[in-house]
Amino acid sequence: MDWNDTPAQAAFRADVRTFIAQQLPERYRQIAEQGGPLGPEQDWQSEYVLGDAETKQAAAQWLAALAARDWVAPHWPREYGGAGLTPVEQFILRQEFARAAAPAVGGQGVTMLGPTLLVHGTDEQKRTFLAPTLRGELHWAQGFSEPGAGSDLASLQCRAVRDGDEYVINGQKLWTSTAHKSNWLFGMFRTDPGAPKHRGISFLLLNLSTPGVSVRPIISMGFQHATNETFYEDVRVPTSQLVGEENRGWYVGMTLLDYERSNIAGAIENRRYLDSLVAHLRTERGAEQAGPRARLGRLELAERYIESEVLFNFSFRIISIQGAGLVPNYEASVTKIANSELAQKVARSGMRVLGPYANLWDPEERYTPLGARFTQNYCHTVLGTIGGGANEIQRNIIATRGLGLPRG
Ligand SMILES: Cc1cc2nc3c(=O)[nH]c(=O)nc-3n(C[C@H](O)[C@H](O)[C@H](O)COP(=O)(O)OP(=O)(O)OC[C@H]3O[C@@H](n4cnc5c(N)ncnc54)[C@H](O)[C@@H]3O)c2cc1C
Repeated sequence: MDWNDTPAQAAFRADVRTFIAQQLPERYRQIAEQGGPLGPEQDWQSEYVLGDAETKQAAAQWLAALAARDWVAPHWPREYGGAGLTPVEQFILRQEFARAAAPAVGGQGVTMLGPTLLVHGTDEQKRTFLAPTLRGELHWAQGFSEPGAGSDLASLQCRAVRDGDEYVINGQKLWTSTAHKSNWLFGMFRTDPGAPKHRGISFLLLNLSTPGVSVRPIISMGFQHATNETFYEDVRVPTSQLVGEENRGWYVGMTLLDYERSNIAGAIENRRYLDSLVAHLRTERGAEQAGPRARLGRLELAERYIESEVLFNFSFRIISIQGAGLVPNYEASVTKIANSELAQKVARSGMRVLGPYANLWDPEERYTPLGARFTQNYCHTVLGTIGGGANEIQRNIIATRGLGLPRG
């Protein structure tokens, strides 16, 4: 595998860097200087939908700049408003954005739902939902998990009963992230309780302002509102919002989970946190805060650095598979584990080196090191090994599909 850019890729990378230098709003430059976003409440969608006038304006300005280049959805085909970039170009774009802490826009509608509609949606669904999602008018939450259905997702029970040209939904979803800042939801619902469990599920799109939907916040131990419980009481959804065939929604949902697997942004983010910690420890103040722990932390930080290099190479492997026209399989599980565990380890190493100063939670407090990034990430990164499919499940995938071990 050749790690270097071809001349065409180098030219594309230079173009992306120039674009970022000219277009990235000042707000995101400041966030980058502080070490990156402070948890899920500082992501693009939160600021665009829930932010104050200033943050909303920066989010809108960045959306407009990306839209002008068709880079809101670099992976979508041109005819649907995407940029039709090759996997390697997408990778370069994401790599450069992550390096500058330039946020991706459009959330799960762009990363997950759009590509799924392109495969399974009707022409009318594509017309109705794709362009407004790119324009930042539709924001999508994902309604898959339920109280009794997470790892074993096919056990989901939330019912959708057909009534003429509508479905009537009753039940509950859990961990419906972003529902409080989204106006639409894509989800899987049980339409045939008598069928084998994978075969009685349908994939529906629903407007979150439909009567009968309620959203109840779940506040994380990092005091942030990223996810929710959602409840459905006689919620009526037109059958035109069924994606794919009735009772075949499991396969639609699985297409959706195939997207965004290289985790390159994670590799860069972890490296950025490490670099900022090392730079801090080199300052007089940082050295004073760490004291003798800096010496002890040396080997640990070197370990983290090596692990971040390994993660880069896992990400390159994924993109090389995609570039060859193949779909990464257990390899994506490897990067998911490596990325989520490294994020936790980097946060933990930072906590150890910063010692008592790492107890300061408030980024504005006078003695807080590095805007409390390590302290807060120590809490925020816990979800990474659970969300998106728990790491134990990823290990099962590696064991059975990657190593050919028997199912236990
Ligand atoms: C912050 C956060 C945000 C989320 N956002 C969303 C979202 O937006 N939309 C959505 O639909 N879902 C979301 N999820 C749900 C997430 O996908 C599930 O939490 C995850 O799949 C695990 O399911 P569970 O919580 O039911 O745990 P369980 O499946 O009950 O698992 C509990 C433990 O048992 C282990 N385990 C379970 N089965 C096996 C097995 N076969 N082999 C070995 N170990 C096993 C698991 O690894 C885990 O450690 C989110 C979760 C979190 C924490």
